[in-house]
Amino acid sequence: MDTTKHGRPIAAGRAADAYCAECDAPMSGDEAALNYKLIDKKTTRFLCPLCLGKKMGETPEHLHKMITLFRKQGCTLFSPWKED
Ligand SMILES: [Zn+2]
Repeated sequence: MDTTKHGRPIAAGRAADAYCAECDAPMSGDEAALNYKLIDKKTTRFLCPLCLGKKMGETPEHLHKMITLFRKQGCTLFSPWKED
């Protein structure tokens, strides 16, 4: 896992795809894509899992589980799921 200058882990080998509109934290494309699912599929304002979680009343851990679920379902907004 790479870490950014903010010290937050992002997906290995990838630069941040988006930055949180509220706290400026970098996030992966999958984390940004969750905003399309939970806010609006046309949104241009992305929130990190922490800020999105606060808004939705969910924990960041739960949001990451949702990302995994959508990826496993083959949702095209997210990166393809690969079994280890
Ligand atoms: Zn944030």
